[in-house]
Amino acid sequence: MDLPWAEPWRAKTIEPIRRSTRGERESWIADARYNLFNLRSDRVYIDLLTDSGTGAMSAAQWAEMMLGDESYAGASSYHKLKATIEELLGMPYFLPTHQGRAAENVLMSTLIGVGSEGAGKLVPGNSHFDTTKGHIEFRKAHAVDLTVAEAFDTQSLHPFKGDVDLRRLKDFLEANPRERVPLCIITVTCNSSGGQPVSMANLRASSELCRKFGVPLFLDAARFAENAWFIKRREKGYAEKSVREIVREMFSYADGATMSSKKDGIVNIGGFIAFRSRELWEKASTFNIMFEGFNTYGGMAGRDMGALSAGLREACEEDYLEARVGQVAYLGEKLESHGITCQKPFGGHAIFIDALRFLPAVPRAEYVAQTLGIEAYIEGGVRCVEIGTLLADRDPDTRQDRYPALELLRLAIPRRVYSNDHMDYVAATFANVFARRDSIRRGLRVVREAPILRHFTVELERAL
Ligand SMILES: *Cc1c(COP(=O)(O)O)cnc(C)c1O
Repeated sequence: MDLPWAEPWRAKTIEPIRRSTRGERESWIADARYNLFNLRSDRVYIDLLTDSGTGAMSAAQWAEMMLGDESYAGASSYHKLKATIEELLGMPYFLPTHQGRAAENVLMSTLIGVGSEGAGKLVPGNSHFDTTKGHIEFRKAHAVDLTVAEAFDTQSLHPFKGDVDLRRLKDFLEANPRERVPLCIITVTCNSSGGQPVSMANLRASSELCRKFGVPLFLDAARFAENAWFIKRREKGYAEKSVREIVREMFSYADGATMSSKKDGIVNIGGFIAFRSRELWEKASTFNIMFEGFNTYGGMAGRDMGALSAGLREACEEDYLEARVGQVAYLGEKLESHGITCQKPFGGHAIFIDALRFLPAVPRAEYVAQTLGIEAYIEGGVRCVEIGTLLADRDPDTRQDRYPALELLRLAIPRRVYSNDHMDYVAATFANVFARRDSIRRGLRVVREAPILRHFTVELERAL
């Protein structure tokens, strides 16, 4: 028989995790004001809050930590990372930043402006990530979501639900003058639509349109390697290409990229902006020096740049990607076997449960996906994250809750951390909540919230 995939690594160091009782969890989550971000991590058994910065580093990465060059300027660790970015992504210039949103801050300051210079400007893309949208709206500009309609139907089997709707992109670019559109940003894979990939054909066509209208195209590249894996597996003409070749081609269509290294960089902290043009790199470096640090460290320790350089290479290894994406699908299939509806096809880094179908009795105004997240925590000590109305936040002009097309609960799988036995436990937790779903009829109410990115700090109470 064909041998199955298995992880191309074995454990050398382990970290204990602890179970708790249902009674403990009920009181802890009330203390946390029904916000999963407020929980202490030692009160969580299996933590699927995020795949960001939670991956396990390899022996080679830990070795890089010891080799780190902490020189203020011109560190060898910087040059190691620069060479990796040029080799893998084909981008000759880069600026290190402390994480992905810092890269966005510097890039948006460069291209949109600072303060309210962004008023009236528009940034098209495919379901912008929350911090990306935050940096756009903070400058009084607007993010325009042009994702294909299939992305909002959890059961459509469209293989590239991260794709931009090219017809709408063309109409948009025709309708808005160049001065109002400082950049277009395409997120690979598209986190907000379910970790869904963007096809090479779509990147190529989007790039042609942007070039025709003189609009710079940037990739939000946090999960570029997972995206490349899906292209290899699903897109005609790419099965025989290596992931490295696919990655090179993806980036060849962009003028630059922002990166959260906490994802496919497989490090705990870090980010960067990559550029094709020296002029843009120079312009951005002024902001980078002010906000992040000098050009050759920009918010990162030398040792972290070394570990990132190794992590980016490991993320492009095909046996790693097969096991990584395979584990996510393993969890998705288990959940579906219990009758739970998940976003299909399964994403690259996470499973997204359709909360509106899971808890149909809970009113839409009572934060359905957050309610499901709270129930899963109480049931099994599993921590997930809401991708729904809390995250969508209020409209900046009307201050009304924005109801996104989908109300999702995201189960993000950290890289190289949990076993498939952990995945079985997670699936059993949700199966138990599913079995008692008819008794869950009320959700949550906001008690306090911040004016922007409210989901991180919101305080809630049970709606009664
Ligand atoms: C995580 C993430 C970011 C922001 O990066 P941080 O490192 O968390 O600041 C931006 N875009 C996408 C798609 C992400 O997943």
